[in-house]
Amino acid sequence: MNTHHCRTIASSGIVFGALLLCANSVTAQTSTAPGDQPAAPATQATLPADAGATGEPPAPVEVVVDAVPASAWPPSPVPFFRGNAKPNSSKTPFPQAGGYFSLFRLIFYIGLLSFWVWSSAWVNEDSTSLKVRSDFWNSLMFGVGAAGLLLAVTSPSFFLAFALIGTSTGTPLGFYVKERNSQVPDKAKVLTPEHIRRVGIRLLARIGINIGGDGEVGSGNGPDIEFVGRTETGRIDTSRTKQVENSRGFMAAKEVVYDALIRRATDIHLEPREDTMNIRMRIDGVMYPVEPFDRALGDAVLNIFKVLGAMDITEKRRSLDGSFRAITEGREIDFRVATQGIRGGEKMSLRILDQSANTGTLPQLGFRKALEEKLLGIVHQPHGLLVVCGPTGAGKSTTLYAALKGIDAYQRNIITIEDPVEYQMENITQIEVNTKSGQTFGSSLRSILRQDPDVIMVGEIRDEETAQIACQAANTGHNVFSTVHANDSITALFRLLDLGIEPFLFASSISGILAQRLARRLCPKCKEAYKPKAEFLKQANLPVDRIEKFYRPPRKPKEECTACGGLGYRGRVGVFEFLEINDRLRDMIREKAPLSQLKSEARKNGMLYMQEEGLRLVVKGVTSIEELMRVVK
Ligand SMILES: [Zn+2]
Repeated sequence: MNTHHCRTIASSGIVFGALLLCANSVTAQTSTAPGDQPAAPATQATLPADAGATGEPPAPVEVVVDAVPASAWPPSPVPFFRGNAKPNSSKTPFPQAGGYFSLFRLIFYIGLLSFWVWSSAWVNEDSTSLKVRSDFWNSLMFGVGAAGLLLAVTSPSFFLAFALIGTSTGTPLGFYVKERNSQVPDKAKVLTPEHIRRVGIRLLARIGINIGGDGEVGSGNGPDIEFVGRTETGRIDTSRTKQVENSRGFMAAKEVVYDALIRRATDIHLEPREDTMNIRMRIDGVMYPVEPFDRALGDAVLNIFKVLGAMDITEKRRSLDGSFRAITEGREIDFRVATQGIRGGEKMSLRILDQSANTGTLPQLGFRKALEEKLLGIVHQPHGLLVVCGPTGAGKSTTLYAALKGIDAYQRNIITIEDPVEYQMENITQIEVNTKSGQTFGSSLRSILRQDPDVIMVGEIRDEETAQIACQAANTGHNVFSTVHANDSITALFRLLDLGIEPFLFASSISGILAQRLARRLCPKCKEAYKPKAEFLKQANLPVDRIEKFYRPPRKPKEECTACGGLGYRGRVGVFEFLEINDRLRDMIREKAPLSQLKSEARKNGMLYMQEEGLRLVVKGVTSIEELMRVVK
């Protein structure tokens, strides 16, 4: 319906443009014609070029004298030639003073016409998205504007015509702005002094004049971020950036991305509501709302991301995906974009993949010393299968990347199969599986075994084929890392067996299963100590007399903490549970022992449950008990 309106307005614009050209000439002629005698200049125009110097009496007298005796006829008052006397054909008797065409007025008219077309289109778009009587305002803008133009066409005076078009476009526009401003939040109002100031600063900045706006607006160019578009196949495409650079919402798009990066968000969600575009960011695994956009601006921002990601902007229902890159302060950050049509609009989520983020090595992930040593032993052994489990967003791939980082990539051939490649690593062959086009982890795994790998990382084991090949590879001299969706290590073990691998094959290949979660770290600047209740400590099996305090985010902070932005948490810490497979456990797996027996054997072997590992962190003041309860249920 938008395009329909626009088309109507555009075509009417062209018709009126043509009318105006006529109007222009008509007005020009009517205003000049009454002033002069048309005959007088014409007389002079017919002078033969050699008739004499300027200021001499009219030449026709002489011409006539040659042909007819002067006494016969009075000289003709109008130029009229007969017989041999020829007028100078290079100078036609066309009226020259005044003229039909005035470039200056034409430009003025075209300017007004463009303004009318532009403002009608804006009112259409803006009122549709804000739902403020769109049909009414569209008809008013069109009707009154068209009437004004018609009147202007018939107006005898240029200035009257100018005033007519100006008023007929400006008045309904003014009333519309008044109505829409009354319905949107302050920041989204237009034509207010503040809005005009912002636009002014931006326009000036575009031509290179920076008059410092205050902090939030920043310099007119917005935050220091450069967008780089990508084609559907993921190649860099700089022309896409040019397409969005001057569109409405570009500055807002930059601000959202910048905001997300300084807040260390991992995802941005744009969620359309009745008249706003809500924005939420996932920071350290938890969604936080940030200031929303009004709907029109929000839709414009969403479209900018779609253009950057080479996604079809006319498709608003079906889910689409794409990607683009942002460069800020020398860092390259990739965004994976996905849209989905929902009730009342189109939702977008942006996954932030920071290529330059330091993934760290295993010792940097904060394992307990004993656990770290066990893990490093497994990572550096020549063959075996290490599985990391946990829900989505539990940091499984971060742990695997850290494990890979600890291996000498120069001396060993490391190949990964991922969906998608989240971080690019030096000297490691990374393969991205395209699950959409029918590729599977299993088939890719089978083919890379022919590439003579030492270490293989498989994104996820979720079918029998992958599980089978991974186990075979681990049994034939490869060190295999992978992940599986399961809540704890014992469940993961049974999950893998349930996929249909033969227990004897699995038992001989598996080296260990690491379950993990990420809990938010308390902000060291503003965390506050408190005395936990004795009965709670008893329940958690903690020594009541030895624990004096737990920590939590401040209940009533005096002022917003600058270190964590008032969230109380900053960064995350892993909570682990490691099941090391020893020979006794191997036998039990082979013999298909029940879960309870496996559990008690693992406990005997020194395995701590995730809750217990987490409580250590709470006692040390790294995280709060509430946060632990949230991530470990
Ligand atoms: Zn803080």
